[in-house]
Amino acid sequence: MGGPRKMDSMFDYSDNEKNKIIPGTLYLVATPIGNLSDISERALKILGGVDFIAAEDTRNTLKLLTHFGISKPLVSYYQHNLRQRGEAICERLQNGESCALVTDAGTPAISDPGEDLVRLCAEKNIRVSFIPGPCAAIAALALSGLFTGKFAFEGFLTGSKSERKRALSSLSGEKRTLIFYEAPHHLLQTLSDLLESFGSRKITLCRELTKLNEEIVRTTLSDAVEYYSLNTPRGEFVLVVEGSKDETRNPQNEKIPVSEQVNRYIESGLDKNSAIKAVAKELGVPKNQVYQEYLKYKDEE
Ligand code: SAM
Repeated sequence: MGGPRKMDSMFDYSDNEKNKIIPGTLYLVATPIGNLSDISERALKILGGVDFIAAEDTRNTLKLLTHFGISKPLVSYYQHNLRQRGEAICERLQNGESCALVTDAGTPAISDPGEDLVRLCAEKNIRVSFIPGPCAAIAALALSGLFTGKFAFEGFLTGSKSERKRALSSLSGEKRTLIFYEAPHHLLQTLSDLLESFGSRKITLCRELTKLNEEIVRTTLSDAVEYYSLNTPRGEFVLVVEGSKDETRNPQNEKIPVSEQVNRYIESGLDKNSAIKAVAKELGVPKNQVYQEYLKYKDEE
């Protein structure tokens, strides 16, 4: 039975070259988003094999490494030291050391500081390799029950109230499914902003994914706002929001009486003021103009 082993078409079953640590390489190592059993065999090999590990929160990572019996020098790499620490990590990589980058949870460089280190490595021609694993956005999309064929990842909505609103307004016609990250203390505000900008679309709220209290709620934006106005949100959330439907952004809408457009929004769950605002935004006219039209219609009724 000599000769080379036949390779399965999909997987390489040998402990191949790809699993060997290459000097001068930055390894992006995905770690669990809540369930420690989700760590991959390859992640553990790489974490145990590199010269040092750069971690967003060294205390968190130390716990993870201790759990798996790995002992490695750690350096911190987070939002507030990424510029100077990034340069130092690159210098070590250029001197032939290997480094694994892990962030607090999930896939490094997705809504966390890892993005900057990869950019810096790309600028300096430093090799970067990826060890796949959990990512909250992709888990939530898969669970959403919404259209997954095309999606847009929006990460955290940031900036001032007006910047957030502008960002949402520019997304209101987006047909792809939208994915947002949100912290519990901002959840209600974000849901209300989404409702105001998009109307009452379908939303799937994915809470505490892979953890004991995992919860997937498939509902509408107006019901979600109502629920979280009465119940304090706890834990980590990914929000997956249905994309815009053709009818709501159809240019033909401009031919539909303004009052009718306002009524459609009200029927989909918005209150009167939010409906007026949404129509004004859609038509690019002042709110007061829509309000006056709506009053006229109400008088005629
Ligand atoms: N890089 C990470 C990833 O791959 O998912 C995301 C990092 S980002 C700083 C943290 C956000 O991810 C949280 O605020 C939450 O929106 C989302 N998240 C992370 N873990 C989660 C979980 N177990 N359940 C739901 N959302 C989670």
